[in-house]
Amino acid sequence: MADVLRVIALGGLGEVGKNMTVYELGDERIVVDAGMSFPRDEHLGVDLILPDFGYLRDSPVRAVVLTHAHEDHVGALPYLLREVKVPEIWATRLTLGLVKSKLDEHGLLRAAELREADPDAGAIDLGPFRIEFIRMAHSVPDAVGLAIETSAGRVFHTGDWKLDHTPIDGLKTDVGRLAELGNRGVDLLLADSTNAERPGFTRSERVVGEAFRQIIPARGGRVLVSSFASNIHRMQQAIDVAVDTRRKVVVVGRSMRRNMNVARNLGYVNVADSMLVKPADLDNIPPHEQLILCTGSQGEPLSALTRIAYNDHPAIKVERGDTVIISARPVPGNELRVHDAINRLTKNGAEVLHEENADVHVSGHARAEELRTLLSLIRPKAVMPIHGEYRMQAAHARLAQDAGVPASSIVIAENGDVVELSSAGVRVAGHVEVGVTFVDGLGIGDVSDVALRDRRHMSEDGVLIVVTTIADGGASQPELITRGFAEDEELLEEMRQEAHEIVRELLADDIREIKLLQEHLHDGIGQLIYDRTRRRPMILPVVVEV
Ligand SMILES: [Zn+2]
Ligand SMILES: [Zn+2]
Repeated sequence: MADVLRVIALGGLGEVGKNMTVYELGDERIVVDAGMSFPRDEHLGVDLILPDFGYLRDSPVRAVVLTHAHEDHVGALPYLLREVKVPEIWATRLTLGLVKSKLDEHGLLRAAELREADPDAGAIDLGPFRIEFIRMAHSVPDAVGLAIETSAGRVFHTGDWKLDHTPIDGLKTDVGRLAELGNRGVDLLLADSTNAERPGFTRSERVVGEAFRQIIPARGGRVLVSSFASNIHRMQQAIDVAVDTRRKVVVVGRSMRRNMNVARNLGYVNVADSMLVKPADLDNIPPHEQLILCTGSQGEPLSALTRIAYNDHPAIKVERGDTVIISARPVPGNELRVHDAINRLTKNGAEVLHEENADVHVSGHARAEELRTLLSLIRPKAVMPIHGEYRMQAAHARLAQDAGVPASSIVIAENGDVVELSSAGVRVAGHVEVGVTFVDGLGIGDVSDVALRDRRHMSEDGVLIVVTTIADGGASQPELITRGFAEDEELLEEMRQEAHEIVRELLADDIREIKLLQEHLHDGIGQLIYDRTRRRPMILPVVVEV
């Protein structure tokens, strides 16, 4: 019974984030994408959320194939490579370049062979899987969908995509090849559901460049543009306006600087060296000649934009007359943080432009009419909506039904469901246990990802709770509660001093925001414990204001 293809999502169903799908035929398996998701506020002290790789631990994986370079598709890769043997990683040129520098930071460059996929070349064979890469337009260049041909049937996996007819790099969704694939016959379509609830079409990425061109030249003070670190087209469009308006460009935030370097080296971003300056050089440049590209569009606690909003950034501040452009939409769960950052920036005097009051963001995901177009090009026998919360999957299922796919051939699956494709069609044939993995980080700002650790080790390394009370101006002597860790009285006393010192210094700098106090405590104490013991207990800072 080798002619049954099993499709198992380890992430990305019933949620936006951590996309990861396993395709199995007999004993052979490949994995499409290995993404992470962003922690929500209730995950105190957690930096990343990863899929659970448990299912892959005992069974060999032939290759990981990546659709594009967004973190929700590649962010879990370093952690996957530590736990599961992966001989090859396949991706297009830019995706591979970005992944390479990420793996390099983790010391994992030799963990797998990195193979470049070319959509203009023919198919590749990975055991019983024959794969063709088809260009899809998205908000990061070099995105592809995957046609996966097996003895059990032909699958098309879209990755993230939209029908952008005027993309910045001129590389459109390859409608011709999609139609040709449809003519050959597709047994199962797995497609991006993110915007399935939204009617109409998503606008072209170029709209954002036009907005930048209207907004930026008219501004007197600093202009900050915040977006996802991987949003290379946004960076290019902002840089182009900076060049025309004689603003120098500074790139702030480690991940954005890294991506910018890779993209420049590979020719995906075009900017002269003379245009780029370092944050430290800004002192000598008048505000109206500055354009600052920064991370933090999701209000992430330690990102450049959040630190700027809280007056906690060493090189950059905003003041009256400055403009902040948030060129992204909050991922579900991040809205409150983003609103918080907008309020802070506004309070500091900046005008903040975001999706709701200016055309400074367009989605990278297909809306309903684009999904209908895809369905009519591919004409799939069966559909499995992926990449989205349940309601988005359900809206996508309705579109498929409208397009003539019988309800019995539409699968709204959950993470862990085993979806089988055979000559008899599709069905959910079982379920494998899938959970999530939390990753806790050490270090603030520019410390590299390498310091990140798997939070499941907490049972080995113990738990430390630091409780501090602050009352007008002062902080109490912190209280420490430990479980399975540090019975050493001397170290405990040192940690107490350190915690007290951290809080005192922050209060002296007028930093009173609980979230930031907790982050600093978490990182400071974590570093101290690691220096003294080489252990990384889970640290839960609790700051109480009275
Ligand atoms: Zn994406
Ligand atoms: Zn995605």
